[in-house]
Amino acid sequence: MRPSQVLRRATSYLERHGVESPRTSAEVLLAGVLGTDRAGLYARAEGLSTAEAKAFGRALCQRCTGVPLQHLTGRQAFRRLELAVRPGVFVPRPETEVLVEVALQGLRGVQAEPVVVDVGTGTGAVALAIKQERPDATVLGTDRSAEAVALARENAKRLGLDVRVMEGELLEPIPEELRGRVDLVVSNPPYVAEDELASLPPEVRADPELALLGGTTFHRRLAEETPRWLRPGGALVVEIGETQGDEVRAILLERGFRGVRVVQDLARRDRVVAGSVP
Ligand code: SAM
Ligand code: GLN
Repeated sequence: MRPSQVLRRATSYLERHGVESPRTSAEVLLAGVLGTDRAGLYARAEGLSTAEAKAFGRALCQRCTGVPLQHLTGRQAFRRLELAVRPGVFVPRPETEVLVEVALQGLRGVQAEPVVVDVGTGTGAVALAIKQERPDATVLGTDRSAEAVALARENAKRLGLDVRVMEGELLEPIPEELRGRVDLVVSNPPYVAEDELASLPPEVRADPELALLGGTTFHRRLAEETPRWLRPGGALVVEIGETQGDEVRAILLERGFRGVRVVQDLARRDRVVAGSVP
């Protein structure tokens, strides 16, 4: 069977199992197995070897039981980057690209060499995208998970982006000399509420609980801890769950942040809250 025929069958198989974007998923998985890209799939006339057919069948089965596509390919695109991902570390989401957008906007007012801290960096997605798009910035990332720290460092190295990643709680690992000198603290913290967790799709629950569970506790802790790190006028930009806009806005205002605003994602859901210290 030629790859195009294999794809047709695989697509209908995934569709019957209720997998989202069945065609694209089948293409991505087959391209991965054959070591080619999407164009290569359609150009190839040659059939699959037995080993390739087996590997593809295995990937399809796993996808049907809710293993995220990204865990099967080991890759996720994020803004202009291609990041390595793996089980044990949160897979970056497209809606987080809005967080980066708002963070970069905030940095436009800073003329040169801003200092940026990404709290809970995971694969390094946010920190690395900011470094790539604002190369004069000094970017530091922290994470409590040793697995995340290792992966973020690997991604930084492979992409040739100079981001320093440190293991620890929130801003604790940041060097003392940066106190009062940080231009921007950005974070996509864990924000799923405990009672929501069970109702999430299996692809989301494939991420570690440490990366998901938090409600608004992290927003509260960040609003409390960041002001002593920020320079006057420095900003806090955080991702939120779509129902948390009013609450997180109120938390920042309570802590004395100015110009607090809630920004929506492309699907028009509240997604980011930003504010700055006086
Ligand atoms: N920034 C990444 C992204 O957007 O793809 C990962 C976001 S994930 C939702 C949250 C991250 O925060 C996880 O990597 C998790 O390990 C980390 N984390 C959880 N609790 C933390 C804490 N107390 N201090 C630092 N990082 C923490
Ligand atoms: N975006 C995740 C979800 O799909 C939650 C991410 C987070 O907790 N930061 O629910």
